[in-house]
Amino acid sequence: MTKIYKESKAIDDLSFEICKGELFVILGSSGSGKTTTLRLINRLIDPDEGAVYLNGNDTKTMDPVKLRRKIGYVIQQIGLFPHMTVKENIGLIPHLEKWKEEDISNKIDELLTLVALPPQLFRSRYPNQLSGGQQQRVGLARALVMDPPLLLMDEPFGALDPLLRMQLQNEFLSIKRKLDKTIVFVTHDIEESFILADRIGVMHGGKMLQIGTPSELLFEPANEIVSKIIGAENKFKAIKFLQAKDVMILIDKNCLIESDISCKEAIDKMISGKIDSCIIKKSNSDIAHISLIDLLNEKDKERSVMDLGNKLSVFAPSDTLSSIILLLKPSKESMAAIMDHDKVLGIVRLNSVLMNLI
Ligand code: ADP
Ligand code: MG
Repeated sequence: MTKIYKESKAIDDLSFEICKGELFVILGSSGSGKTTTLRLINRLIDPDEGAVYLNGNDTKTMDPVKLRRKIGYVIQQIGLFPHMTVKENIGLIPHLEKWKEEDISNKIDELLTLVALPPQLFRSRYPNQLSGGQQQRVGLARALVMDPPLLLMDEPFGALDPLLRMQLQNEFLSIKRKLDKTIVFVTHDIEESFILADRIGVMHGGKMLQIGTPSELLFEPANEIVSKIIGAENKFKAIKFLQAKDVMILIDKNCLIESDISCKEAIDKMISGKIDSCIIKKSNSDIAHISLIDLLNEKDKERSVMDLGNKLSVFAPSDTLSSIILLLKPSKESMAAIMDHDKVLGIVRLNSVLMNLI
């Protein structure tokens, strides 16, 4: 697409694809065209050239109002109606759509619970009786009320102080895991993009300079501007001397299972330990990682976990971060097991490590 304002191109021959179910972050400094891109996606504005396709269909052929009901939109200014209660704000569109009162009420309670606002405390409050973070949660609940498959978020945590911002980012990640949604999230904050993204698209001057995972952007920046935006120079220094033991997450015994147990036993263990993934030790050199979701999706729950999980590369505690990255990179693995002789000490999650280097 191209979008021109008074002869200057806000969006300049922009073309990219977002995959179903991913959290795609658009990262760029102020004025790079991020908001304009979101507004083009939900047809608040139309491009001068080009088109937006949703599941292969040109959005120009769709009714804009109906389209927007299928696309949740969360903005920094939140935009709650001040004279409406939380309940009325969230229930507005369902009312317009003539849902049954009971269904609206149930949906509101479900969403408030999801965004960690107990309904009995918050349903009847007005926006000015909420903190900034609470307003932002109501904004998210409102955007989710029609259960849109696609969610656009424009610097939603931008106005919050750093601590609250981090808390909401983490909460948002766990909410995201419960929802089956495609999310386009705009930010100018590199750290935020690394925490949240499946993939990041770096925008500058209305163009998409590069799309990649955090480590691809860090270690294979497409050009000088990307490298400047990501700040790659500094990190190269750190990865040469950081060792696996400096950056690993320690394994506690709940997260480690032996390979002779069944899926069902592993699921029970993970649920009672409140963990969502674990490490399977199959032999001293064969270590795998499996998530609770994958186990729950396994049809035969009596089956042994022996053949399941994704095999992890194994490193020693003193291996440097750069050697881990070099070995993992060709296979695009993002996780490694750290072992001292035959004992699993921990795992390294590459993306969260790289994020910490910022
Ligand atoms: P970002 O969200 O990345 O900060 P925007 O998408 O809001 O950037 O803006 C991209 C460029 O387009 C900026 O130079 C901005 O001034 C310009 N622009 C955006 N909207 C308008 C508008 N309605 N009229 C004129 N210029 C605009
Ligand atoms: Mg903007």
